[in-house]
Amino acid sequence: MAIRIELEALALETRYTFKIARGGRKSYRNFVFHLYWEGVEGLGEAAPQEYYGETEETVLSAFQRIKNVLAGEPVEIRRSIQRGRLREVLEGDSSVRAALDMALWDIEGKVQGKPCYELLGCDPARAPLTSFTIGFDEPQVVRKKLDEAEPFHVLKIKMGLPGDMEVIEEIRKHTAKRIRVDANEGWDLDSALKIIPELGRMGVEFVEQPISKHSKSALRELKEKSSLPVILDESVVDTADVDEAARMSHGINVKLMKCGGISTAHEMIRRAESLGLRTMLGCMIETSLGVTAAAHLSPMVDFADLDGNLLLAEDPFVGVAVEDGRLVLPTGPGLGVTRRR
Ligand code: MG
Repeated sequence: MAIRIELEALALETRYTFKIARGGRKSYRNFVFHLYWEGVEGLGEAAPQEYYGETEETVLSAFQRIKNVLAGEPVEIRRSIQRGRLREVLEGDSSVRAALDMALWDIEGKVQGKPCYELLGCDPARAPLTSFTIGFDEPQVVRKKLDEAEPFHVLKIKMGLPGDMEVIEEIRKHTAKRIRVDANEGWDLDSALKIIPELGRMGVEFVEQPISKHSKSALRELKEKSSLPVILDESVVDTADVDEAARMSHGINVKLMKCGGISTAHEMIRRAESLGLRTMLGCMIETSLGVTAAAHLSPMVDFADLDGNLLLAEDPFVGVAVEDGRLVLPTGPGLGVTRRR
């Protein structure tokens, strides 16, 4: 039975220009993949990232390549996307793989009348707190963002730009909340070794991707010397990267758009656990569709940073909620995501 696919482009805006060490932007073009199998519709989102070699054009071209070739049971197609023929066809298109994989999980859940977390063996009562990300900004804007972050118990602060210490000192003056730092490869070994102890004195919990993913020996050295746990994000794309990450860090940040969906993210988290690594789930700037797909796995991880939907000016979907800073998974079948009315 062939699966029919339709592609819908989304023009998204964040409330603020989202600024990290590599640059900043406010407009995003994501895509919704609508899959139809035996009268059931599954939804998936692709948030292509130029950093990982994807653009609007590569998503459109990937769609042309696969729109007429998906056939078989949803579970077989999922396996083919993870490590079969479809994986080869979509090797450089991880966000498209993610969209297809989550749409297929959505269909499977709807067919069985069960939420995805149940199919994945996750207990929704164990869903973690999510952090709320504060992008790099002027101190007075940062103060305003702190007010808006009031419902969250954990903050993630973007660093790795000149003046970043002043920003975090400013934040510490105004809040006693748990703080995690993401440098997005913005430091070198020397600056990381200088900054991390200061962050430790400010009660920062861990540091994400302090140094470039290309500086592997520096990351290995930092792992030995760092007074705070180091979590790798840009360094870890796929399951094949997890073992090496264990030599360079204390944990990994798994994202559906990097690894190609729920199936591979689940595998990466299990592999990381078996190596004694801490696990984190993150996201890109995504709607509640993509973020909810990740949230179904969140009871498995130590740290969640699933706030991409909350940074949007308007979110076309409704799915995972946040109550008192904690992720609340939707209980409907499949992903449990609906269109906002
Ligand atoms: Mg990161």
